Amino acid sequence: MSLHTNTAFLHLVILCFPLALTLTIANTKPNCQSKCGNLTVPYPFGIGVGSGCSMSPWYDVNCDASFAPPRPFIASGNLEIVSITGDALRIKSWVAARCYDASGNITRQNRVLINITGSPFAFSQRNSFTVIGCDEQALLNFNGFGALGFTSGCISICSDRADLGAGDCSGVGCCQTAIPKGMQLMNSFLGTTTGHVSVWSFNPCGYAFLGDPTSYSFAPSDLADPGFQNRTVDNVGLVLDWAVGNQSCSEARKSEDFACLDNSDCVDSDMGAAGYRCRCSQGFQGNPYLSPGCTDVNECETNPCDENGICTNVEGSYACSCKKGYLGDGTRDGHGCIAKSSEFPVIKFSLGLSFGLLAIVIAMTWLFVSVRRRALINLRQKFFKQNGGLLLQQQLSSNEKTMKSMRIFSAEELENATNNYAEDRILGKGGFGIVYKGLLHDPQQVVAIKKSRVMDESQMEQFINEVIILTQVHHRNVVKLLGCCLETEVPLLVYEYVKNDTLFHHIHNSGGMPWFSWGNRLRIAVEAAGALAYLHSAAAKPIIHRDVKSPNILLDEYYNAKIADFGASRLVPIDQTMATTLVQGTLGYLDPESFRTCQLTEKSDVYSFGVVLAELMTARKPLSNTNNDREKSLSTFFVTAMKENRLFQILDPRVLREGSLEQLQAIAEIVKRCLKLHGEERPTMKEVAMELESLRKFSRHPWIQQQVEEESVGLMNGELSDLYTISMNSEISMGPHNSGTTPLMYPREHTEN
Ligand code: AMP
Repeated sequence: MSLHTNTAFLHLVILCFPLALTLTIANTKPNCQSKCGNLTVPYPFGIGVGSGCSMSPWYDVNCDASFAPPRPFIASGNLEIVSITGDALRIKSWVAARCYDASGNITRQNRVLINITGSPFAFSQRNSFTVIGCDEQALLNFNGFGALGFTSGCISICSDRADLGAGDCSGVGCCQTAIPKGMQLMNSFLGTTTGHVSVWSFNPCGYAFLGDPTSYSFAPSDLADPGFQNRTVDNVGLVLDWAVGNQSCSEARKSEDFACLDNSDCVDSDMGAAGYRCRCSQGFQGNPYLSPGCTDVNECETNPCDENGICTNVEGSYACSCKKGYLGDGTRDGHGCIAKSSEFPVIKFSLGLSFGLLAIVIAMTWLFVSVRRRALINLRQKFFKQNGGLLLQQQLSSNEKTMKSMRIFSAEELENATNNYAEDRILGKGGFGIVYKGLLHDPQQVVAIKKSRVMDESQMEQFINEVIILTQVHHRNVVKLLGCCLETEVPLLVYEYVKNDTLFHHIHNSGGMPWFSWGNRLRIAVEAAGALAYLHSAAAKPIIHRDVKSPNILLDEYYNAKIADFGASRLVPIDQTMATTLVQGTLGYLDPESFRTCQLTEKSDVYSFGVVLAELMTARKPLSNTNNDREKSLSTFFVTAMKENRLFQILDPRVLREGSLEQLQAIAEIVKRCLKLHGEERPTMKEVAMELESLRKFSRHPWIQQQVEEESVGLMNGELSDLYTISMNSEISMGPHNSGTTPLMYPREHTEN
């Protein structure tokens, strides 16, 4: 009985390769033999033991030329290399065998021990331990028995050949077991239960080998095949893992000996021990261990783009585009390349059309905006002219100071101030237009805005008239004009806001209000008279109001009188004492003489003021709804009552209560004189104002005085004040003769006694 053991020692190397690539590395160190028999040997392996063609002696390949063709072995050992591909080194497998005779005696046996300890190689887990036989118990021991060793194996027992199936090693006549990772020393043992006696007729031998199971396919005939061992050694390969160095990639990178050259990646060894392999980065090829490292793959050579695409090689990759006349990304698995054909002109046409339309829209918008702007300017100019702007400009330009005090408002500003002329902002309606309450924002100020009705020639004249007069008059008892707006269809005048309504309203609606005492009525009369006297006495061009009436006397927050509505007023040239004009005014207040003669004098205002005074004393309206002619007109009614000595019967009871009889009688006399049919017989406004003022000052009963004072206190506390002053300390700026030289016709200030 011969018994021998096949042992393989090795010190050797394999090649390193991209894991994903099964390319054979063809690069050999310069001046080194690249092939041994049919095997191409890439660096870091090199042919010739000690030739210096490998990276280290472990990777030397002994090319035994005694064979024909020569056969490659790992270093000086007896492990024959089959292939060096990718990340694996494939060597010829070794098969352990044991044969028996019919009585169960061993006739031949060989054990296999492969020891690659200390080398950069290890048995790959791609191998399996395979046992063939029907009475076999095979053990596989790694790394020796003891602390570091492992033993596994498998048993294959069968009794009938008919049970054996072909193809796979399923446990009947053949069993397989996996191996642990990183093993470098293996020892196989075969054993038997009965010495094959019962199966000897179809299975005289048992076999065991470590190798790549994909390269072996079990056949029942193998159990009795005397050539099984050699056939298996020739056909089944044993796969070895390998690595470079004894460090991990991260450690090796720091060292000068790092083996991975340009354009390559480092992969940690999967052998369970330290060490690494190099592989070319994606898009590169070559030998990563050999200078100059990996070089760019020209992917375009393999035509990776669409058939109508253009391939452009770039470092590590490639780019696809489409030929002229095609659209797309040019890739094979993307959108490829589609002929532009008819699609392109449509896109071109659509783009052209869109741009064209856009250009037309922009041009039309621009044109529209320009035309509108022009039209708006023209309209504003038209309105400006229509609203008498030119005339106004002419009139005002002669007086720079006046111009400065006037503010020109924009239409928008006044629209905002009145909330677009909202109904609830209406303060009142006059003959000339509607008056709105407005709130200006810059600076914040409450104002009254008069919006005239659609204008005819005469109304336009009235409007200009009011502007011209009011810009020249500055008196505390004349409502102040702040500015105007001419760019709207109808002109707009902006006045100081006078809070407490008209005198008419207070006489006829709230006669019972505590503040509306006789004393306050008289004060208001004195203030109104003073303002009218001031207008009449202006040196350059006296002003005749022409529409003096209680609705045109406004009352401010302290119930001070403010003469308003100068639409009908006239400037009378200084050398003329009267002017001929159309009769204007309000029935009931209208001077009958000027009505008859069409002559305009200051005395017309005196007449109207007489009516207002009568209104204050009697609290009667200037025209009553009565059939009695004598009572219809307040002026006739008052004068008749005076004649008939019935004054005290027609007076307002509160007036009668609060005024002294002498005072009332004296004031009634003034009224009577004001209401004279002939203007010449009437006093001037100056005389009226002075007389009223002196009557107000000196003719008061002590008990009335006390009551007035009480009322004054009450008014002051409750937002109202009773100002007993009359001031002519106002300016009239009507020309060079007069500026700042207002005659002091009355005491500047009067204090209540
Ligand atoms: P007129 O057109 O001037 O007669 O004004 C018509 C009405 O508007 C008057 O009766 C007042 O009620 C009111 N009004 C006119 N001007 C002002 C003003 N400056 N402040 C407050 N209300 C005013």
